[in-house]
Amino acid sequence: MSCIFCRIAAAEIPAEIIAQDDHTVAFLDISPLADGHAVVIPRRHVARLEDIPPAEVDALFRTVATLAGPVRRVVGAAGSTIGINNGDATGQTIPHVHVHIVPRWPGDGAGSVHTIFRAGTRRPVAEVGKEIRKALA
Ligand code: 5GP
Ligand code: ZN
Repeated sequence: MSCIFCRIAAAEIPAEIIAQDDHTVAFLDISPLADGHAVVIPRRHVARLEDIPPAEVDALFRTVATLAGPVRRVVGAAGSTIGINNGDATGQTIPHVHVHIVPRWPGDGAGSVHTIFRAGTRRPVAEVGKEIRKALA
């Protein structure tokens, strides 16, 4: 097993684990962006969020929601940025789904999700919306 996150989930390598259940494991990031920076993973090795079976997605986000408050309060933060680098193109470095919970403070110098994007759009919103609804039908 070469995936670092699979090895953490299997307790083969150490991590600062903060919660775990049948489907998920949560631990502190080894290179934290802020005090309390946590990652929540499914036990299943899957690279992208959309490839996780629905029941395990439910468990993953239940764990994220359960942890968001305690993680924030323990480090005295005002909020948290919660995000997923979902696929190679996003800068995802470990191809095992992980949800970052990064505590935030006013004036901490980090931006909102909107600050990641510079390119803008090429297509009308209504046209894209129509195609997505069709793809879901
Ligand atoms: P990504 O950039 O793929 O969204 O985030 C991967 C995260 O995993 C990074 O924030 C990185 O610091 C963290 N990470 C990488 N290797 C380890 C490790 O062995 N242990 C822990 N706890 N975190 C890790
Ligand atoms: Zn894995």
